[in-house]
Amino acid sequence: MNSKNASEEYDIAIIGAGPAGLFLANYVEDLNFIVLEEHEEVGRPLHCAGLLSLKGLERLGFIPQKSVQNKVRGAIFVSPSGLKLIVKSRRDEAVVVDREYFDKELARKVTDRIKLGVKVLNVNRKSGKWILKTERGNICSKILVNAEGFRYDLSLKLGFDKPPENLLLPAIQVELEKVKDLDEDLVEIYLGNRWAPGFFAWIIPLSSEEARVGLAAKSQPLICLKNFLNKHPTASPRLRKANIRRVLGGRVVLTGIYGEIAKGSSILIGDVAGQTKPTTGGGVIYSGIAAQIASRVIRDELFKNDRDIKLEKYDRTWRQMLGRELFFMKVARLFMMQIRDKDYDKIIEKMREIGFEAIAEKVGDIDFQYKILKRIIKTPALYLPQIPYLLASFIRSFLI
Ligand SMILES: Cc1cc2nc3c(=O)[nH]c(=O)nc-3n(C[C@H](O)[C@H](O)[C@H](O)COP(=O)(O)OP(=O)(O)OC[C@H]3O[C@@H](n4cnc5c(N)ncnc54)[C@H](O)[C@@H]3O)c2cc1C
Repeated sequence: MNSKNASEEYDIAIIGAGPAGLFLANYVEDLNFIVLEEHEEVGRPLHCAGLLSLKGLERLGFIPQKSVQNKVRGAIFVSPSGLKLIVKSRRDEAVVVDREYFDKELARKVTDRIKLGVKVLNVNRKSGKWILKTERGNICSKILVNAEGFRYDLSLKLGFDKPPENLLLPAIQVELEKVKDLDEDLVEIYLGNRWAPGFFAWIIPLSSEEARVGLAAKSQPLICLKNFLNKHPTASPRLRKANIRRVLGGRVVLTGIYGEIAKGSSILIGDVAGQTKPTTGGGVIYSGIAAQIASRVIRDELFKNDRDIKLEKYDRTWRQMLGRELFFMKVARLFMMQIRDKDYDKIIEKMREIGFEAIAEKVGDIDFQYKILKRIIKTPALYLPQIPYLLASFIRSFLI
């Protein structure tokens, strides 16, 4: 950008070329927009395990090709004492992608509309327009879309609410080769405070001997990961001697809806809007669903040809569509954050007793978890001794 075009004008300015910004860019491809990304390359730095449901991707109309590394059919949940619950479908349920290349694939159709290496420093409103201040001059737009991810700098400047800090967990992940005894079809989830306080540890197979191994935790995730790699009774012997090929960190967003996501002609989308699953932190599919909703509302408002753009319908539609899902997933996350390791063991034991694997296979959905959570709530035998925790989680879910 040079001084001649120091005040470029667009209908839509999108801050951030992560999945949220890029899905939206694809859905408004025919409109007058720009995407501003502070990094020099789309997809970097990386902060994702890359597990995405096939149903979710189909719904978004985007089936990744080159970035797909593996396909999985289910998961093994391992309790702190080593009890296993295996939920496996007869067909592929999810793909494991390399997020760097996934983002690049997502950017392909809109590459010439992305300005790389442009950090938005501040945003102001002047004469009915948004002025985005960058080191390379100002950008002007009618609509502002903030897809900045989990940092919240600009959303706070725009007057949106601060997210609850205790539901933003630091995470760390390593990519390993020469891992032993991997089942390529199954993701492994290790529950319990002993390994990942407040969350869980994962092993996601990339092939028969490569995997992503990571965890999020209330604090000190690096120490927790070293502990998991070196001391977990069943996982460690398979991981300890593997080679580390890549390390990454980030924050998993478990907030659910925590405030407004639209004000007049500005919206939040993606992690910054709490559009992730509070149970797992997965946010790519939800950011795409939010982008579909946002693109429809933006299109309608721009074509109204009215100077007074109002995007609150995006917020209302998101809540109508996913409010209940997010509420129950947040209750489940708060519940899991409170219970003790021995409670996890009891719950998994009970699940095995009543044949919960079959129920999960029938009603489970990686992205829409209300149905399976409802089945759990309707089966008090699973959590009878933990009812006080569950009630507390319901109450806290309303408050946070
Ligand atoms: C360890 C880990 C594992 C995960 N695993 C999964 C998984 O398996 N599946 C899944 O669905 N989700 C997963 N997630 C969550 C997923 O990574 C996020 O939900 C997703 O990346 C959110 O997309 P986004 O576009 O909102 O934000 P981001 O991907 O963070 O993108 C935001 C972009 O905005 C740019 N930006 C920020 N501020 C500015 C600025 N001021 N100016 C210009 N550019 C700016 C950033 O550089 C960045 O490129 C994981 C997260 C972590 C931390």
